[in-house]
Amino acid sequence: AAKTDGRNTWRRFDRAMQEKASERQQLLAELRGALSRDEFSLHYQPQVSLIDRELIGAEALLRWHHPVLGQVSPARFVPIAEESGLIVEIGEWVLRQVCRQGRAWHEAGLPPITLAVNLSAIQFQHHDLPSTVARILDETGFDGRHLELELTESVLAGDEARVAQTIALLKHHHIRVAIDDFGTGYSSMAYLNRFAVDKLKIDQSFVREMDTDRNSASVVTAIIRLAHSLDLNVIAEGVETERQAQHLAQLDCDEAQGYHFGRPVPPKAFTALLQTLPEQC
Ligand code: C2E
Ligand code: MG
Ligand code: MG
Ligand code: MG
Repeated sequence: AAKTDGRNTWRRFDRAMQEKASERQQLLAELRGALSRDEFSLHYQPQVSLIDRELIGAEALLRWHHPVLGQVSPARFVPIAEESGLIVEIGEWVLRQVCRQGRAWHEAGLPPITLAVNLSAIQFQHHDLPSTVARILDETGFDGRHLELELTESVLAGDEARVAQTIALLKHHHIRVAIDDFGTGYSSMAYLNRFAVDKLKIDQSFVREMDTDRNSASVVTAIIRLAHSLDLNVIAEGVETERQAQHLAQLDCDEAQGYHFGRPVPPKAFTALLQTLPEQC
């Protein structure tokens, strides 16, 4: 009986694997045409300074609306786009879109904010990245000083000389580099010394638990101290409550992002938000 059970379990497992694989194949097939069918868009989520709660930036987050599947979460499609290499093309679209948007906001006389873009490892490792970024800045007239690229720790674990060179090339345009989901990835912190990183983004898993779990609170405290002792900026992501915001401010965290301050919204809604801010001279 045990043997039969085992076989059935295996069959069930095998079928589940096959279903998963074919679902990926299907998504990949749909993903291939998504750019040309204009199914992508970007949402912008506010980033605020914790000292005065002023809006200082926004993270651009990719959205995919498929005519039949509806809204597909980036957590589902980004990994498939990465595996297939499609992320290079999609990522270039994201960068161009963000720089165009930033330029348009600037032209409209709205207060200058930093726009943050997520880069996948494959995109970062692509030999063309620095020249692509340079071309897009040139083409759109967006100032690199207002662009921040979010990398994950795994990116910085790559070939050291190449990573350093890529970051140096980006720095020619005064682009800033942030480490996303900090504390969840690669465990060596040697790269913090080697590369010109500007900012750490505390992963939302620590922020979510910081008021109920002592260990998470300790991790948050340690990351803020680490950032400041290395002269880096630090932002907490996934801030959902006023209590978390106050706790983070107390710990001297520089910036925050999360539903408490604003959800990711389409460009129009973000424009409206920018229009409510005090005028710049
Ligand atoms: P991420 O870069 O760490 O982005 C933060 C995620 O947390 C976003 O999910 C955002 O909507 C969500 N979030 C923000 N505030 C809160 C909060 O207070 N509570 C909770 N529970 N969630 C919050 P989203 O938009 O679904 O994106 C998921 C991931 O997909 C991103 O994580 C990023 O890794 C990836 N991604 C999104 N856009 C792009 C893109 O343009 N390029 C690449 N390569 N990856 C992207
Ligand atoms: Mg991010
Ligand atoms: Mg993150
Ligand atoms: Mg993430």
